[in-house]
Amino acid sequence: MKILVPIKRVLDYNIKPRIKSDNSDIDLGNVKMSMNPFDEIAVEQAVRLKEQGLVTEIVVVSIGVSQCTDILRAGLAMGADRSIHIFCEQSHIEPLSVAKILAQLCKTENPDVVICGKQAIDDDYNQTGQMLAGLLNWSQATFASEMTFHDDKIHVKREIDGGLETLEISKPAVITTDLRLNTPRYASLPNIMKAKQKPLSIINIADFNVDMTPRLSVVSVSEPAKRTAGQKFETVRDMVSSMRKNGVIV
Ligand code: AMP
Repeated sequence: MKILVPIKRVLDYNIKPRIKSDNSDIDLGNVKMSMNPFDEIAVEQAVRLKEQGLVTEIVVVSIGVSQCTDILRAGLAMGADRSIHIFCEQSHIEPLSVAKILAQLCKTENPDVVICGKQAIDDDYNQTGQMLAGLLNWSQATFASEMTFHDDKIHVKREIDGGLETLEISKPAVITTDLRLNTPRYASLPNIMKAKQKPLSIINIADFNVDMTPRLSVVSVSEPAKRTAGQKFETVRDMVSSMRKNGVIV
């Protein structure tokens, strides 16, 4: 079984985003960028499946600026076999364009399963996996918190309101990862060194003939409202009467 894992370069999740002074966007100048956390979970899952002997090849792919090679190397150090950088100078690429490019890539790479993150933490779109499955007419299972393989069927457990749902899907399939699927490993130093020898091929986005014209325009980006200071009360009675006075409860 061959697995393709699309990985996106995003602002590191530990960094507090800075907003540009004209409120047009997040300022990404001189900040740490990393692999999208849900994509790390996807790579980890593919590597675990390979360790169980279920997978023969893992290919990581990233679409974006030249620095995407850093996250591809990180994916190779975690255990992927091969990487593809689809080079594009545009920093914002909408999910539909990403899905169209990945759909074309799937036609040449022929993976049995694509494991994506459920969402990229920069735009929080949560669309690419679903669109990719739609374009390819493949099975899809989103927000996977567990997956098991049974011949050509895959059982995917998903956390839904009120419990756990298990779906059975057939290959080829697109699966998107949720937070509780696994805890990604840290790449060891020897594996980081070995990753430098693993294949990294670069394809220009123009080779895909996909219309990259944005369909969305960002009107403004602003900070969330500041939280007001809390209040301390000596007794529960004081708290309840204050809440009543302020109309929080009746
Ligand atoms: P989104 O729909 O933008 O929230 O992204 C969902 C998932 O699609 C991500 O977790 C990645 O697996 C994949 N993805 C999105 N953008 C890219 C990109 N530029 N390169 C590679 N994979 C991507």
